[in-house]
Amino acid sequence: MTLDPKMPAEAAEVAAEAMRHLWWLRDAGVREVSTAPPPTPAAARPSIPAGAGVAGDALRAVRADLGDCTRCKLRGGRTHIVFGVGDPAAQLMFVGEGPGADEDQQGEPFVGRAGQLLTKMIEAMGFARSDVYIANVVKCRPPGNRDPEPDEIEACEPFLKSQIAAIRPRVIVALGRFAVQTLLHDATPISRLRGKWREYEGVKLMPTFHPAYLLRSPAEKKPAWEDLQLVMKEFGKSPSPR
Ligand code: URA
Repeated sequence: MTLDPKMPAEAAEVAAEAMRHLWWLRDAGVREVSTAPPPTPAAARPSIPAGAGVAGDALRAVRADLGDCTRCKLRGGRTHIVFGVGDPAAQLMFVGEGPGADEDQQGEPFVGRAGQLLTKMIEAMGFARSDVYIANVVKCRPPGNRDPEPDEIEACEPFLKSQIAAIRPRVIVALGRFAVQTLLHDATPISRLRGKWREYEGVKLMPTFHPAYLLRSPAEKKPAWEDLQLVMKEFGKSPSPR
């Protein structure tokens, strides 16, 4: 292979470097190289770690069932299906509303600004983000971050239900109106439901405010922290002095 003499100097240098690398590989005995672009790091990360026991197998089965989902109109606008992240055998599970732009790009729930706050809340509770499991009511981003619509929630709800059945957490923290209403089928405002234990299919459920709401209304962080302290108590944890 020869280089085009009309190629700009910088491009020629990159091409020459690539050729040197290929010759080096050939001399090392490599006979084939892939020309596929490398996957983006987050998309490459398996959403369910290999192994992870019975819960991992069950969760992988749920993910396989979801497939390359086309069950609702959110299919058209998504970059990635945002299935969930964390320990398949987690004792503590957080359920949010649906992916935003950052989550859609990275394929992982709660990685944007609200996600950073959620991670801080999890850590303040004495857990690592990797200790818990995080999922959403809808797995694909609603366009322009609008609220998920009833038909979209209805299409996705069975997968959330199966995720919870696979993980069997000891406690679910339902973040905001959509998580609470979807899981409890109760339209009472979140401001009245928060901070009081409920039950979802035999699992203790704590409704609290969504971290995105807490970013908009910082005064509500105090009651939200009180809700999370009730959850910590359930795990025998007490808040570390600040
Ligand atoms: N808000 C949610 O409800 N879920 C996410 O994953 C991100 C933001």
